[in-house]
Amino acid sequence: MYEDGLPPLRDVISRYELNARKSLGQNFLTDLNLTGKIARSANGLGGSSLKDSIIYEVGPGPGALTRALLMNGAHKVFAVEMDPRCIEALAQVKKTYPGRLDVIQGDALKIDEQKLIGDTGGRPVKIIANLPYNVGTALLVKWLTLKEWLPWYSSLTLMFQKEVGMRIIAEPRTKAYGRLSVLGQYRSEAKIMFDVPARAFIPAPKVTSCIVSLTPREERPDIPKQEILEKVVSAAFNQRRKMLRTSLKALGQDPLPCLEAANIEQTSRAEELTVADFCRLAKSYE
Ligand code: SAM
Repeated sequence: MYEDGLPPLRDVISRYELNARKSLGQNFLTDLNLTGKIARSANGLGGSSLKDSIIYEVGPGPGALTRALLMNGAHKVFAVEMDPRCIEALAQVKKTYPGRLDVIQGDALKIDEQKLIGDTGGRPVKIIANLPYNVGTALLVKWLTLKEWLPWYSSLTLMFQKEVGMRIIAEPRTKAYGRLSVLGQYRSEAKIMFDVPARAFIPAPKVTSCIVSLTPREERPDIPKQEILEKVVSAAFNQRRKMLRTSLKALGQDPLPCLEAANIEQTSRAEELTVADFCRLAKSYE
């Protein structure tokens, strides 16, 4: 038994026969000290404490992170899980924390989170999740490309493969720098909080993971519309070895006037542009 009076995660996994399914990106955590560290790393992000916050969690699995969130005082957790076996396993956690955990069976890619959470009573919402690797990037892009900004959440604390984390925080002129770096950094502060070794998971993945935090920044006048920035960034990185005067033709108009207006050399390549350069360029397309 742990201090929450619930059985160890390994027992939950074997009792509910949660043999991991690759198709669902299942790698389960079992150490509540580690998940406690993840939960506490979200404290204070975006100016809100864990205790005051409503948490949106994707893929609670057998519940290692969910339990840590509740143990560390999260006001309420909404958890969306695709695997019905895990929903069953979480029933006991729900009972231990009456009224503080809602588990919803569904696909996080399709869910309207705001509708699901409903009235927050003015409380901040944090997204904290050990994401399934197969849909982690798609979910991040979903949350970073919301039209309404500041978004409905005050911070993101997410587990990714280390390589994806490095892409999110990458600087220009590096191999890891790309679409995800610009999306991650243009209107939020992105940081790697700490690494999580493969041995922390059941089954152990082949690679190291890391916890990434992203805190949204206020909209500023020099920030372009998200859908335009996305188009420019995608066109530029889709042909990252080509000069921008060529790669940006994919946008369907002569790129030279926009490059000139943004004060960017037409012979530059995507990976040489800073996030600020991309913002200026997208502004000139706007
Ligand atoms: N949070 C648990 C932990 O840390 O041990 C499990 C993490 S595991 C990497 C990812 C979880 O996401 C699995 O439980 C899986 O069933 C669930 N999942 C996969 N795809 C999903 C989706 N599209 N929507 C919601 N949950 C999903």
